Amino acid sequence: MTVVCSKCLEEKPESGFHKNKAAPSGLRLECKACRKSIGMNYRKIPDVAQKSAVRISEWVKKNPESTKAAQRRHAEKNREMRRQYSRLYQKEHRAQDAERSARQRAEIKRATPNWANLDYIAGIYELCALFRRTGLDWHVDHIIPINGKNVVGFHVENNLQILSAIKNISKGNRLNDLDGGCLLPA
Ligand SMILES: [Zn+2]
Repeated sequence: MTVVCSKCLEEKPESGFHKNKAAPSGLRLECKACRKSIGMNYRKIPDVAQKSAVRISEWVKKNPESTKAAQRRHAEKNREMRRQYSRLYQKEHRAQDAERSARQRAEIKRATPNWANLDYIAGIYELCALFRRTGLDWHVDHIIPINGKNVVGFHVENNLQILSAIKNISKGNRLNDLDGGCLLPA
């Protein structure tokens, strides 16, 4: 047997309606789907929201165990969502990181003349890696930026210095504030 919903006027099976003993048909006039949207809109009314918040907090006080269980369930669900989100984030950012380091590699390649002392340069990077083992964020920095606006430096041993990340960022590819860096022996 089917029933027509008073709200959406769709014909649905009886199972699509909540029971209502007071009603002549024993069913609610509106279908479950409509009932749900009525309920949701109803809860949006500020006074109703306020009252239900109070009711919820009272219920929470009276039912600490059930509340804890519900919080656990929520945390679990949330954890899974966070995991999925961070996977997505990593995937996007891995691509961006790869792009950035490819760009940097290309920049370095372009700025390296054939007379650069590649062994010496490799040594500087090794030294920097050693510095980083202190737990501080050291970077190999171009004293004269290789992608500067006004001056363009070479990727050569005497244009490199090891800087702490903070110094490097504050330098911001401008030719000032070169003090404080660890200048390498020439
Ligand atoms: Zn309906």
